[in-house]
Order: sequence, then structure tokens, then C-alpha cells
Amino acid sequence: MSVKTITMTEEQIRQLEQRLSKAQKRKTPPYARYQYQTSECVITAYESGKVVFQGEGADFYAQGWETAEPDARAGRFPQAGSDEVGTGDYFGPVVVCAALVQKEDVPLLAQLQVTDSKALSDDHIRKIGPQLIERLPHSLLILNNSDYNRVHERDNMVAIKCKLHNQAYVHLRRKAQGLPDNIIIDQFVQKKSYYRYLQRQDEVITGIHFETKAEHTYPAVAAASVIARYAFLRCFDRMCERYDFHFPKGAGKQVDTAIAAFVSRHGKEALYQVGKLHFANTKKAL
Ligand code: MN
Repeated sequence: MSVKTITMTEEQIRQLEQRLSKAQKRKTPPYARYQYQTSECVITAYESGKVVFQGEGADFYAQGWETAEPDARAGRFPQAGSDEVGTGDYFGPVVVCAALVQKEDVPLLAQLQVTDSKALSDDHIRKIGPQLIERLPHSLLILNNSDYNRVHERDNMVAIKCKLHNQAYVHLRRKAQGLPDNIIIDQFVQKKSYYRYLQRQDEVITGIHFETKAEHTYPAVAAASVIARYAFLRCFDRMCERYDFHFPKGAGKQVDTAIAAFVSRHGKEALYQVGKLHFANTKKAL
């Protein structure tokens, strides 16, 4: 028996399914989009974009799709990518950015050493952030702490992230007059759940590829991650100035101490404006 595996784009996976209209549809296996059976071949398309052809007819059915090389997606432009920051920080907003990268932008991104923002120093991000903002079409959403706390009474963190990512793409589509067919989210939830959280949204952007650690592989996700982090740092600076207080990042013990100190100076009401109150830190500190 022969097996052939090909990585395809969303569009190709749809086209393939149309061509299989005469084949027998089978129960969809876990992590798969669909599975079809013909007399000589079982064809399974996975959410990852991998399509597996199994059986005597594998070569025949896979023919013509091979131009879709594995991992070609990362080098395909234009590409849109999105990422979020601030979700692990008690203090400060949640920021989501979606950015659009053309092939011509790639040398600049390389020159600015754009990669996962977690791997870059704050100083470097402050330096390159404005250049990316200037160069790349992007959409930036900043959910400040009081809005976050209010929304969190209804939505959990994952739901909030799903809606922000979707909203960022809706804005980007408007700004850039369209979106490319290569869209990547740095995966924080299963694709199915992502779309379930968006069920009641007016506009939902579909055809998105989900991949963990995408900031390392996709220039558009890396750029989005840097722009988001840059915006987060700016908000953080303003917060420190406004309250004349040194807010620590993260959600560790030093945050508990800071919460207590902040509340004794500015009162409990003010905490609603600067922190994510549902984190366990709040209870520990007060
Ligand atoms: Mn991420």
C-alpha cells in the first residue's frame, strides 16, 4: 500500500473536497477536516493542512497537488499574522495585533531582527516598533484594564482573545482592502473552539491557519507580536507615570506585593484600572 502526504493551503483543501464529490465521505477522524474513500484510496485532510492519501490509488489521487510543498506557507506572501501580549501579565492591558507582510518587506524585517517578541529585549522592541508600525498595514487592539475587567464578567480569557483576533482581522481587511489567503494565528486554542467562540459575531474571518509557536516561523506573526508588545510597553510606561508606581510584569510573587502596595497608596477602586482582577494574585494580595 502506498501513502503520500502533501501540505496544502485552505483553498486547495476546499478544491480537493469539491473534486471528491463522488467519493464516499467517512466519519471525520480527530484533528481532521474531512475523510473520503474511493475504491482505491482513503484521503484525509487534517486541520494542520496536511493531506494524507492512502492506498493503491494514492499516487493517482495526489497527482497535481504536489506543487503545494510542505512548509511552503511560511514563505508565501502576502501573509497576514496575529498575536497577543499581556495575557500573562497581571498589570497592563491585553493587546492584539494583526499585521500584513509583503515579500518586499522581508529584507527590512530581517534587518530589524524581527522575531518572537518574547525573545527580544524591551529596548530593541522600543527601537523597531515604530518602524514596523510605519511600514506595515496593521490593526492594533488594546483592551485596557477596566474594559477587560468588565468584559471578563461575561467572557473568559480565551473568548476575549478569540474576539480580539477576529476583530483585528476585520479591521485589517478594511484597512488593506482585503486579506491574503495566507493568514496565520499563533495558536492559543483549537481551531474548532476558536470559531465556536465567534458564533455570535457579526463578521467572522475564516480560512485561518492555526499553528503554535508561529512567531518563529511566520514573518507576519513575528511582526504582529513585536507591534503588540511595543504598544503594551507604551501603555505600561504611561501607567507607571500616571500612578507614579513601579508595576512589575508577569504574575509572580512580586506582583502580589505590588498589589498590596498599590492599593494602600491609591485605593482598591484604582486597582480596577490597572490590573486583571480575576487573576489569583488579587486574592493572595488582599
Ligand atoms: Mn502568542
